[in-house]
Amino acid sequence: MTRFIITTFLCFGILCSAQGMEGAAAELKKVDTPKPASQKTRVVMLGTGTPVPDPARAGPSVAVIYGGQSYVFDLGAGTVRNAVIASQKLGIEELFPTRIKHLFFTHIHSDHTADLSELVQTLWFREQPNIQLYGPKEFQTIVDGLRLMVSPDVEARMKSIQPVKRKERSFIDVHVIRPGLVFDQNGVKISAFLVDHGDLVPSYGYKIVTPDKTIVLSGDTTYNENVIEQAKGADILLHEVMSEEGLSRLSEGWQKYHHAYHSTSGQVAKVASMAKPKLLVLYHVLFFGASENSVLQEVKSRYSGTVVLAKDLDEF
Ligand SMILES: [Zn+2]
Ligand SMILES: [Zn+2]
Repeated sequence: MTRFIITTFLCFGILCSAQGMEGAAAELKKVDTPKPASQKTRVVMLGTGTPVPDPARAGPSVAVIYGGQSYVFDLGAGTVRNAVIASQKLGIEELFPTRIKHLFFTHIHSDHTADLSELVQTLWFREQPNIQLYGPKEFQTIVDGLRLMVSPDVEARMKSIQPVKRKERSFIDVHVIRPGLVFDQNGVKISAFLVDHGDLVPSYGYKIVTPDKTIVLSGDTTYNENVIEQAKGADILLHEVMSEEGLSRLSEGWQKYHHAYHSTSGQVAKVASMAKPKLLVLYHVLFFGASENSVLQEVKSRYSGTVVLAKDLDEF
């Protein structure tokens, strides 16, 4: 209680609104009295967008929740805010920012990494252990740069009257991954596999296996047989997609670029027809001006399985 009162009165400016205090109080309460860990796997869409700013869609990010932990794949712009909404409005406490301790990145493109700085600066004084980050080797450079970026702020706060006990702030441990099993703890096995995102090598997809679900994430990729192989028999295949109708309106140069880096609706339908997941979830949708319904129909007209086009904060 003492800690709660101190935190409430000396919090950051951004938290000192009535709403902020409510948020801080809710977080402390949740940390103090965690619910029993659910043994049912939940998949939450923290962001379904692309590099194109969209008020309705945060950048790409998918969270898998199991056994009281969250495993977050990519962290596009706006996804930390969506994680707070998921924790407070959907009751998924494992997604409160200080509870996120496992991050997996598909590749280094900024639409997938933009909220990493947001996550490490959100409530950093809570003394949580280091975040464990898994991804290509370039993430060491990204994390080193991030540390430099936040250091003036941290130093200023440490010299201020903020009652922060810990002199070494929590940060990030980088685990450079290769194709194969990259994580095996707490009943969760996570494997990375190579996909084809143009000349950006390596770019990964992920397969997540829990006691009750198998989930495969395509990452950013054009048509790729590794996705088919990994997704055979999966409960959920989350796949990126671009609209063929929208793509046809672009210049020849942009069409060529996108064909090399991303999957058309027809290619996604082909992948799903061969892998036969129980559920196909479309996200990271490049609409290029086409409607949600038309992208969905482009896939549905060539794939007879169950398919949905995800919105932010959808749960599967
Ligand atoms: Zn992307
Ligand atoms: Zn990309």
